[in-house]
Amino acid sequence: MEEEVKEGLVEKTNAPRPYNKGRVSRKKVCIFCQDKIDEIDYKDVARLRKCITEKGKINPRRMTGVCAKHQRGLSTAVKKARVMALLPYRTK
Ligand SMILES: [Zn+2]
Repeated sequence: MEEEVKEGLVEKTNAPRPYNKGRVSRKKVCIFCQDKIDEIDYKDVARLRKCITEKGKINPRRMTGVCAKHQRGLSTAVKKARVMALLPYRTK
């Protein structure tokens, strides 16, 4: 039981794994930190679009490499953008 929980935690961390089966792991850098953006602008649709799926869902951090701080701001920004009809709630 305890071991199962530990394994789950290991999965979620970004620590490099001992084996990556020949795949080259490229470290993802937060696109908002790169451009030194403190607060994410909901009007910045071009950037927000990179962080949502085709269906309009917000991508998880492990997909986009956005840092924890910016992911929090991102989710609010995307939600604001949806209200302002800049981004879709969902697409078919
Ligand atoms: Zn960041």
